Amino acid sequence: MKVQYQILAQLKRIDEKVARLRADADRIPEEIGKLEKALSTRKAEFLGAKDSFDTQEKSLRKSELDLKEKEDGLRKAEGKMMEVKTNQEYQAALKENQAQKGEKGKLEERVLGDMSQMDEHKKRFKDAEKILKEYETAFNQDKKQLDEDRKKVLQQLEEQLQLRNESAKRLDKHVGSIYERVITRVKGVSIVLAENEMCLGCNRTVQPQMFNEILGQKAVHKCQNCGKILLVGTQDLPENEA
Ligand SMILES: [Zn+2]
Repeated sequence: MKVQYQILAQLKRIDEKVARLRADADRIPEEIGKLEKALSTRKAEFLGAKDSFDTQEKSLRKSELDLKEKEDGLRKAEGKMMEVKTNQEYQAALKENQAQKGEKGKLEERVLGDMSQMDEHKKRFKDAEKILKEYETAFNQDKKQLDEDRKKVLQQLEEQLQLRNESAKRLDKHVGSIYERVITRVKGVSIVLAENEMCLGCNRTVQPQMFNEILGQKAVHKCQNCGKILLVGTQDLPENEA
């Protein structure tokens, strides 16, 4: 039974590594997800800025077109003034001409207003574009690193699982079947320490008789509460130190 405990102690250390590596392997995609979310926020900001810039540009083109039409109209009105024959006709043409000039002035103001607004929108859009590009570059680098990290973690995990299999094979049939059942049922590490008749995995009491059997290495027991295999501190040492 002493050898069994030595193997279990070894399995405990492997299990701890496995649990750590699994947690790392799960954490990495979560981190990538967070980065992707932040990237899509930057993208949305950029698209929003681009959209208002496009709208503003359209508004400017429309104002410019309106102004051009007004200028054409004014030219025609001036032509008409040349053709008038009576004073009455002249007065009417003059009045129309002045009204058109007033409207033209307003359109010119509108064009200038649109232009200065467009400058602002353009700046906002260019800034958002720059931020997005920088973010994309950083994101691609981070993602590449995280993908590499994950690959390494999965490889280490694979190695540890293989090691665990080999160690588990050295267990007696009875202890081996207990261990197999535990690793398929519990989450995280499957072997924990017990101290002063207490399971350190779940902090519940271990029956005194059971605890003594573990202490004396008479039998292998699971915690009745969390279902993990129990070891005592002195057993949790590398094989050559035990
Ligand atoms: Zn427990």
